Amino acid sequence: MISVDPSSFNCAELKRFLYDYIERELDDAILIALDNHVICCPDCEHLVNSYRDASETPREHLKQPVSMPGDVKFQIVESLSQSEK
Ligand SMILES: [Zn+2]
Repeated sequence: MISVDPSSFNCAELKRFLYDYIERELDDAILIALDNHVICCPDCEHLVNSYRDASETPREHLKQPVSMPGDVKFQIVESLSQSEK
């Protein structure tokens, strides 16, 4: 459990929890506190809106592996096919 005092939430807290806030993966008290902050803070409202737009793509998008050079891929495929024998 994250220990924070929701009444002290400010822009720094919002940025700190931004990702989880967008995903609604925080304690209800924290979500409500952040909601309340965003409502009265145009800067954070803008931040949340732009982040939401950017996260329209599924979460898996963020987990994309770094692309490997072709020869490394080939070696992996080769070792896999060898282990199947
Ligand atoms: Zn703010």
